[in-house]
Amino acid sequence: MKKILLFGVAMFMALAASGYLNTNGGFQNEEESNSAGLRSSSSSSSSSWSSSSLKKSAQKLKDAVMNSNTINDYDSGGLPFTKSIPGKKYDVCIVGAGLSGAIIAERYASILDKTSVVMDIRTHIGGNCYDFEEPLSGITMNLYGAHLFHTSLDRVYKYITKWQDTTPWRRYDHEVVGWLSNKLLPIPVNINTVNGLFDSHIRTSEEMDEWLKSVQIPCTNEVCENAEEMAKSRVGKDLFDMVFKTYTKKQWDKEPKELDALVTARIPVRNNFDPRYFADKYQVLPEKGYTAWFAQILKHPNIDVVLGVDYFKVKDSLEGRCGKTIFTGPIDGYFSDSGLGKLEYRSINFEADIVPNKGFFQTHSVVNYPGPEVDFTRIVEYKHYFHQKSDYTITVKEYSTDKGDPYYPVPNPTNHELYKKYQELAKKEEETKNVFFVGRLASYKYFNMDAAIDNVLNMFNTIENHPSQPDIEDPNGNAADTTDQKASTVSDSV
Ligand code: UDP
Repeated sequence: MKKILLFGVAMFMALAASGYLNTNGGFQNEEESNSAGLRSSSSSSSSSWSSSSLKKSAQKLKDAVMNSNTINDYDSGGLPFTKSIPGKKYDVCIVGAGLSGAIIAERYASILDKTSVVMDIRTHIGGNCYDFEEPLSGITMNLYGAHLFHTSLDRVYKYITKWQDTTPWRRYDHEVVGWLSNKLLPIPVNINTVNGLFDSHIRTSEEMDEWLKSVQIPCTNEVCENAEEMAKSRVGKDLFDMVFKTYTKKQWDKEPKELDALVTARIPVRNNFDPRYFADKYQVLPEKGYTAWFAQILKHPNIDVVLGVDYFKVKDSLEGRCGKTIFTGPIDGYFSDSGLGKLEYRSINFEADIVPNKGFFQTHSVVNYPGPEVDFTRIVEYKHYFHQKSDYTITVKEYSTDKGDPYYPVPNPTNHELYKKYQELAKKEEETKNVFFVGRLASYKYFNMDAAIDNVLNMFNTIENHPSQPDIEDPNGNAADTTDQKASTVSDSV
């Protein structure tokens, strides 16, 4: 606690020195005159601070994000839903109402006119993309961490914008800064990051290329074998130590050399001043939020939505009622009595705060903390998305943990080996019981949102032996493997 307080004071002073704070102590923004910025979080003078409605809302929000609960009991984005499975027969029973589950239900309904039930143990649709409007502030935020959509795949973009009339996607170029050597500097590393850290005066891409060449450490065997080699081959030892080493340990509880190269390959390096986190052609967010968009996907007379139901508790009652089953949950959970042992996942503890502030708490929607000064990895301020107007702001700190909902498969050789054994069981289950495993948790892959969508579109074609999906594909299909070591397309939640 003391460590965090001291760090807060140091950060405030450094921000003031670096010009990020205005003279009133608030962050620079379009509503500077009203901004409380950091000051608001350390001041107790405002009367609204003690207001019971703020206290109540703050507690409600804290509990919701801490326990991964919806603020209101159930949230189907306005769609009709039930709390138990209707006593019908379905062409397809789908476990999980996240990206893979919702999209495959929609494909079965729209393309093949098949019926499905989509069930989720959670009391909301949207899986980890779920978002909601916090009632006091009116700020729309994700419950399970920031989800920035980006893709270079035309087919995926075409798919997500199918409901553009009702739930439009709008351009949003995401930028991240990191707290590095007492300064806020761009991540991924670009010219400003290097000049800010090393007192250099690089001005052109040629100069940056030269600088990078002087520090980069080529991977031992041409192909980078782990996340440390990958990062060092891009940014050299000093930047690896400052940006990647501790952040990765905090995030995964493993040294970077114990993780696959694809983990740090997600973060590119720039030889220019481009401050954006992603380089993809399409970088967009759903204007009305993800939940509203999911509701459009699932809004079809052939699809029944069931919330708050544990598949494993109703599995027996579904016997003989599902033509096929699509399982999108953790694959080791499905085969929990196989004796194979658990696959490793990382989870996140979220710590939310809501404070009166007409401006912003921090300069960017996401600020990374790659150093050891604090235990959290980043702070997300959702208000930045589309510059939402509110008398309040909300911040969410992310602490990585191995307990709780599975968010990230842990990509390393040991887990891949174990996953292969589950894959064999999955193959048998497919052949004997018509059960298919789809998605990030079922495939045990560190998928991005776009890779997850690409994967489910491919899976639909494969399972149904379907030549193409005419609304989003050319007649020859447009399948692309987006899952391996491509920094531009392999970056998910942030
Ligand atoms: N990473 C890091 N420092 C940073 C940002 C990322 O070391 O400031 C590493 C870390 O290992 C992380 C990985 O790069 O897990 C991928 O980052 P990304 O932001 O894509 O992670 P996600 O958004 O999926 O949590």
